[in-house]
Amino acid sequence: MSKTEELNLEDFMTGLIKRNPGETEFHQAVEEVAATVIPFINKNPIYIENQILERMTEPDRTIIFRVCWEDDSGKIRTNKGYRVQFNNSIGPYKGGLRFHHSVNLSILKFLGFEQTFKNSLTTLPMGAGKGGSDFNPKGKSDREIMRFCQSFMTELSKHIGPDIDVPAGDIGVGAREISFMFGQYKRLKNEFTGTLTGKALEFGGSLIRKEATGYGAVYFMEEMLQHRGDTIKGKSCLVSGSGNVAQFAAQKIMQLGGKVLTLSDSSGFIHDPEGLNDEKLNYLIELKTVRRGRISEYAEKYKCHFHEGKRPWAIKADLAFPCATQNELELQDAKDLIKGGIIAITEGANMPTTHEAITAIKKANLVFAPGKAANAGGVAVSGLEMTQNSIRLAWSREELEERLKNIMREIHQQCVNYGTEEKQVDYIKGANIAGFVKVANAMVAYGAV
Ligand code: NDP
Repeated sequence: MSKTEELNLEDFMTGLIKRNPGETEFHQAVEEVAATVIPFINKNPIYIENQILERMTEPDRTIIFRVCWEDDSGKIRTNKGYRVQFNNSIGPYKGGLRFHHSVNLSILKFLGFEQTFKNSLTTLPMGAGKGGSDFNPKGKSDREIMRFCQSFMTELSKHIGPDIDVPAGDIGVGAREISFMFGQYKRLKNEFTGTLTGKALEFGGSLIRKEATGYGAVYFMEEMLQHRGDTIKGKSCLVSGSGNVAQFAAQKIMQLGGKVLTLSDSSGFIHDPEGLNDEKLNYLIELKTVRRGRISEYAEKYKCHFHEGKRPWAIKADLAFPCATQNELELQDAKDLIKGGIIAITEGANMPTTHEAITAIKKANLVFAPGKAANAGGVAVSGLEMTQNSIRLAWSREELEERLKNIMREIHQQCVNYGTEEKQVDYIKGANIAGFVKVANAMVAYGAV
């Protein structure tokens, strides 16, 4: 047999872009992984012989469907629905549903691809998927949301199941939407199984699930700092976003003695130099989850500054937690963070930092945690929700938080094992390779399937 030909990043990306034209977010996510994984693959030719990276970048299956629903005025509306079942080598497909006007195939493929590595890192048996719709929940009544969710689930239910594919929430999909979808699934299938996670406690949900992504990201930051003999205590923190991840990242930062200076939404950010406290956080949760208002209302209530249309990265602080959406931290933002003396950045959101920004951050030698490692706490507790549903038991808050903490510690350790170079940890490299190995070995074992 001739010597296996080594993979080359440029050639690999040229082929991938040709096969997936116009899917820029997907290209970006793959390139970030390929850049660190290809040198590892070249040292382990079995992965080349089995075409593992080529196969891992092609979803197992992509389902696209029409979602028709009736609005409050009786008008029929039509949206696109998607489920990208990316890879089930190590467990049932698992990943969130996103309802946002920007949703398209490129975004869902980037998220599904990232999920493959993230779920592998959690140490739990979960494959990867992602789905959603270009439906915009903003400004819709509860009844419109219900009708949309029921219509969406009527089609999706044909493709999911407790041992097949277990969706969860993401942007625009919280407890309300999961409840509507679970109700419809249960009705259509006439079975009560843990087919969605993020459910309410009354019908199979898990304690700590809503806190898990934000808490996990902060635990991960604490692990990285402790690895350098430091801690979150006493540090000032920039948080972007004000949704599920941002809210509970902020809460855990406060619990660990840090100070949260900023929060944001798609209209701008607030800067509260006094820092968040429990009362302000409760107000924020009510504002964003119950009233579905704007972040500027926080600034009006607590007499602090609202920066319209801006991001928080030019405020001077010690730590940064981008927790809103993809590509919300660009090159100029990274320069601002560096200038402001930031020590470490932890991605609570998926791919919030652009490629150019990461390059600048690396050059400045800052500590940087990629989302696939740092925000894996959410899917990890979703995995624990699946386990509780299967054994028909509910674990206590303390037990679940301890498990979450241990999983985040384990993910950190995997990053250290695979990412340490000359006593410094490259968390991107560590997370990518550690996530890759488990899935790749399973794929090699299965042969060409
Ligand atoms: P939410 O819908 O609860 O909150 C999203 C937040 O991001 C809102 O504050 C929203 O503002 C803001 N936002 C959305 N788009 C933009 C934009 N273009 N510019 C600025 N701000 C924006 O979502 P989550 O908190 O659940 O998710 C946040 C991120 O975390 C996403 O990247 C998601 O994929 C990731 N993630 C979430 C997990 C989870 O368990 N929920 C798990 C792992 C990752 P507005 O209200 O104005 O829309």
